[in-house]
Amino acid sequence: MAAEAGKTAIVIGAGIGGLAAAAALAPHCAEILVLERDHLPPQAIARSGVPHGHQAHVLLLGAQHALAALLPGFDADLEAAGAVPLRQGLDGYLDFPKVGTLTPFDIDVDFYAASRPLIETVVRRRVAGLANVTIREGVRVEALVTSPSGDAVLGVRHAGPDGASVTHQADLVIDAAGRNGTLSREMLARGGSEALAATAIGMEIAYTTGIFVPPDDSARDWKYAYVVAGPPADTRSGLILPIEGGRWLATMVGRFGERPPADHAGFLDFARGLRNPVLHEALKAAVPEGKFARFVAPGSTWRHFERLDAPPRGWLPLGDTICDFNPVYGQGMAVAAQEAVWLRRLLDDAAGDLAALGKAFFAGLSAIIAPAWSASISDLGFPQTLGERPPDLAERLRFAAAIAALAAHDRDMRRLWTEVANLVKPPTAFQTPALRARIDAMMAEMAAHA
Ligand SMILES: Cc1cc2nc3c(=O)[nH]c(=O)nc-3n(C[C@H](O)[C@H](O)[C@H](O)COP(=O)(O)OP(=O)(O)OC[C@H]3O[C@@H](n4cnc5c(N)ncnc54)[C@H](O)[C@@H]3O)c2cc1C
Repeated sequence: MAAEAGKTAIVIGAGIGGLAAAAALAPHCAEILVLERDHLPPQAIARSGVPHGHQAHVLLLGAQHALAALLPGFDADLEAAGAVPLRQGLDGYLDFPKVGTLTPFDIDVDFYAASRPLIETVVRRRVAGLANVTIREGVRVEALVTSPSGDAVLGVRHAGPDGASVTHQADLVIDAAGRNGTLSREMLARGGSEALAATAIGMEIAYTTGIFVPPDDSARDWKYAYVVAGPPADTRSGLILPIEGGRWLATMVGRFGERPPADHAGFLDFARGLRNPVLHEALKAAVPEGKFARFVAPGSTWRHFERLDAPPRGWLPLGDTICDFNPVYGQGMAVAAQEAVWLRRLLDDAAGDLAALGKAFFAGLSAIIAPAWSASISDLGFPQTLGERPPDLAERLRFAAAIAALAAHDRDMRRLWTEVANLVKPPTAFQTPALRARIDAMMAEMAAHA
């Protein structure tokens, strides 16, 4: 597909969302300028603009597939950079609430484990190699620049090296500046747009992560391990993920004000308090490397840009700017990359017509976000979680628990459950008559034993 002559785009933010957006635009724009406030390290280390980069980032298959669609060969690049190939179902020790330890199965679903900085570095190298993409570092965008009436975004404003304001014009501005969506919200408020609706599921989630040298233990029969919290009372979870360099990344998660300690002894003590001792047993014998890092997230917020009656032309939000999810479901990179794939598809269909993008992009957002969002709804099963409870919440929780119970010991159900959790199949996949009958029967059995 030929690039539209002279069309230019600015992408704010060189996180996963911004980089995926630049890759999506590349065949259709003459020039794409990615503006990033941070200085970007050549090596895979966390940086200040992405303070959550120290924490566990699971690359769901939905993310892997979307990034590979935009950047063919991405999977191979990731593996060559040191990511660890894993088999879901076989390599994981998984303990779920009310279900216990899942039977290991070969469900033929592979994925890669790596640190977030490694994933981002591999994506960035590929995007930086695109001939019409320039990534400019150390540029903090201050505002989106609009037409006098506010009906179009014309560019962005940022401070130049001498401190004076610089304006860059472009045919399209993508706001991928991350959590809160501040730049886009301010732009809409200045233009007098209707108030932006948002749905929030408020659950304070505190992550603490450490890197460990694993013990040499050939008797261990898992490569990654996850102990999952469950409502109403079990608020702690923990994860060990193998990452590049033969290391373990271990994360402890607390909720509702409980913050896993960021010192070795306290971290181990928290691990000892998990429902299942597997993580504590493994970490006792591992050697910590460097400091522990903490990040506290407020839960999930979906800013409903898709409901705007008249979104300004020449502007699209993407990634966490639109929706930040409870991180424990590992969905943010997948949804951001899937939105970028949607952007690419629209541009392919419109033969690169940037002006035709706006409404079509917003119209497709819910179909991408809602399947991921449905996982966060289960957070409302904790009594402390803030947010509006859907009238059928109890039924939804029982439905999810029944699927987990079936998936624990049934290979086909495990495969589908894994694919839905990985955002490669929608939750509606459970609604075939045959599956529905099995799930209903399990719900009845669980109710009888409750
Ligand atoms: C604790 C935690 C754990 C997570 N775990 C997972 C996981 O397991 N799997 C998963 O898929 N996702 C996970 N996520 C979500 C994931 O990090 C994001 O959803 C994903 O990276 C997409 O983000 P983004 O690119 O939209 O924003 P970000 O990653 O936040 O990137 C935004 C970029 O914009 C830059 N920027 C911000 N403001 C400006 C400005 N004014 N001017 C210029 N540049 C600017 C920032 O420096 C940054 O580089 C997790 C998130 C958290 C908080």
